[in-house]
Amino acid sequence: MKRDSSKVLFDRAKQVIPGGVNSPVRAFRAVGGNPLFMSHARGAYLFDEDGNQFIDMINSWGPMILGHAHPVVEEAVKKALAGSPSFGAPTRREVEMAELICALVPSIEQVRMVNSGTEATMAAIRVARGYTGRDKIIKMEGCYHGHADSFLIAAGSGAMTFGVPDSPGVTKGVANDTLTVPFNNLTAVENTLKENEGQVAALILEPVVGNMGCVVPAEGYLQGLRKLCTQYGVVLIFDEVMTGFRLALGGAQELYGVKPDMTTLGKIVGGGLPVGAYGGKKEIMSCVSPAGPVYQAGTLSGNPLAMAAGMALLTYLKDHPEVYKNINNAGSRLATGLLAQAKAAGVKASVNQVGSMFTLFFTDVVVTDYDSAKKSDTVLFGKYFQRMLEQGIYLAPSQFEAMFISNTLGEKELDKILEASELSFKDLSN
Ligand SMILES: *Cc1c(COP(=O)(O)O)cnc(C)c1O
Repeated sequence: MKRDSSKVLFDRAKQVIPGGVNSPVRAFRAVGGNPLFMSHARGAYLFDEDGNQFIDMINSWGPMILGHAHPVVEEAVKKALAGSPSFGAPTRREVEMAELICALVPSIEQVRMVNSGTEATMAAIRVARGYTGRDKIIKMEGCYHGHADSFLIAAGSGAMTFGVPDSPGVTKGVANDTLTVPFNNLTAVENTLKENEGQVAALILEPVVGNMGCVVPAEGYLQGLRKLCTQYGVVLIFDEVMTGFRLALGGAQELYGVKPDMTTLGKIVGGGLPVGAYGGKKEIMSCVSPAGPVYQAGTLSGNPLAMAAGMALLTYLKDHPEVYKNINNAGSRLATGLLAQAKAAGVKASVNQVGSMFTLFFTDVVVTDYDSAKKSDTVLFGKYFQRMLEQGIYLAPSQFEAMFISNTLGEKELDKILEASELSFKDLSN
């Protein structure tokens, strides 16, 4: 495979961008080699600067759920562009977007648009603190909620991959206000709430985790958290930046039938443009400025192009429920197929899957939390990743990520992925 153009670009990039990338997980450090620079993408396929073609299993970490350059989204953005890319004044699209989100996500009564998932979670905990008058938050080890200071404690994939669980630059004061507990452990949450009674503003989690690899909530876990948060007056925040509009139109909260007090959104909600959103109960959201005293703002928030892209994508998903059936079926087929191949080749593996999100862990331990995820053989994953890449399958370049399936994976692509994977596992066992 030719990689000259990517190599040249990466060398240039390293001179002017830290580590040569604008987000660490793109850097291939966990799997070895240099990152590939993409030039364009259509449907299920990515094309790099050297003209190589790949089946895309990342899909921009989720947003391209309909595949790349979907005409519905493209048309909507073109139309919005003609009206000017930004005003800094209210627009009709923002109202329509808010109405759409409130209609689709069960627990959201009011919503504020921002520009990234990071902004959404950062604002959500500020609002929860303002609403409760308390300082502390609880997060789960291995869950990622963007790169705001409060969340860079036991923060999942990026940090896990690079072995920096706590980032320099985060003050002790901030770290002290963030309490961490293992995922899937209700007793740990209850004990922490008891020890910090009257001090915890919010509990935030990924209801289905994507950022330590895919980890599934145990039966009754989300319901148990709901009960505890109500009992202790804690704002329950579902970070659905990854799961929102993916696991179901209404996200994990619809799938599991549990209503959080607040929800954060990102990725799919922007249709590939930089968008995030946070929302929840009216009573809580009315604390947000200018309705209430908690300040949060954004020059480009509710940007016309971004609203157009997001709305086109969400509307399409709403009108085409078969998309979920397709991507969930593809998820099942790949998860089952890959696990069987690994076993046949004598490679230790276990798989977690919810619909179109799944991770094959290179360990035979059942992964239920951060500690069990860390048992994975990351060196072996790196080898598998490279074999897949050579055969034209672009996986997430870290063991601790989920694969995100798009609706453009047809029989042909699924067969190709499974064929490439079988060969890759065979190579690993030799
Ligand atoms: C991606 C992600 C974020 C951060 O979103 P950005 O748009 O990258 O800032 C937050 N939470 C979860 C669960 C995510 O997957």
